[in-house]
Amino acid sequence: EVKKSGKNGYQFYTSGLNAQLKEKIELEGELRKAMKLNELLLHYQPQMLALDQRIIGVEALVRWNHPTKGLLPPNTFIPIAEESGLIYDMGTWILREACRQMRQWHDAGGPRIPVSVNLSTMQFHQSNLVEYIRKILEETGLEPQYLELEITESMMMDAAASTAILTELSTYGVKVNLDDFGTGYSSLSYLKHLPINKLKIDRSFITDLTLSESDRAIVATIISMARHLKMEVIAEGIETKEQLDFLLDNSCQEIQGYYFSRPLPANEVESTYFLPYH
Ligand code: C2E
Ligand code: MG
Ligand code: MG
Ligand code: MG
Repeated sequence: EVKKSGKNGYQFYTSGLNAQLKEKIELEGELRKAMKLNELLLHYQPQMLALDQRIIGVEALVRWNHPTKGLLPPNTFIPIAEESGLIYDMGTWILREACRQMRQWHDAGGPRIPVSVNLSTMQFHQSNLVEYIRKILEETGLEPQYLELEITESMMMDAAASTAILTELSTYGVKVNLDDFGTGYSSLSYLKHLPINKLKIDRSFITDLTLSESDRAIVATIISMARHLKMEVIAEGIETKEQLDFLLDNSCQEIQGYYFSRPLPANEVESTYFLPYH
């Protein structure tokens, strides 16, 4: 009995694994093709000044317009891009497209605001990152102060290597923001030394703000710490007026979330936020 169920269990396991592997390989091939066929696109989510709710930046978020599955979110394909090494080409396309779009908005008379671009771990650690970014900025004509890179705490595990990269980037004038702040396993000591521009409070602390005393304590403490360290601070994932009020009461400078806007295609960002400036 035991032996039989064990055998069945094993067969089930391997066929499940094969199916998974097959789907992954398929998706990887499709993803390679998608890049050639221009099926990737960027949406942009507005970031607002808390005080007057003016737009002060946008975050570029990649999407895949899949021929049969529709618009796919990044968590369905970024991991595959990372495992297969496709992330380098994809990351280059994302950076170039985000910079090109922002330069175009500037040229069209839009507000002089920066675009934030998420970097994957492999991109952050690629050699000559600064040279590579300089090239993209030169090609697209966007000035360095209008590009902000979002990295996570886990990318800074290697303190010496990250210090070198961050110092070089900040000398060049590109800002680096710490995304999903508070969810990583790193120590706070690196905040003293590293040229980090902005802390981005993770959405998981915002979601239950009105219910959870400890989330309120954590959020208030991050805001206060950022102020003392002379860093900027932004909260992500604001969905309600109550969450906004708490952040205002605690002097959080910047906010981003569905309460103001979902990530939007470029033309909708333009018509909603930039046309009044013309
Ligand atoms: P992230 O950088 O932390 O981006 C924030 C995510 O939260 C986005 O999901 C955004 O749509 C979502 N979001 C924003 N406001 C709200 C809100 O009020 N409520 C809720 N429930 N969600 C909100 P998205 O676009 O699916 O991206 C997920 C993650 O994928 C990003 O997290 C980032 O880590 C990664 N990602 C997105 N675009 C890129 C990219 O171009 N390159 C790389 N390497 N990673 C990317
Ligand atoms: Mg981000
Ligand atoms: Mg985040
Ligand atoms: Mg996140």
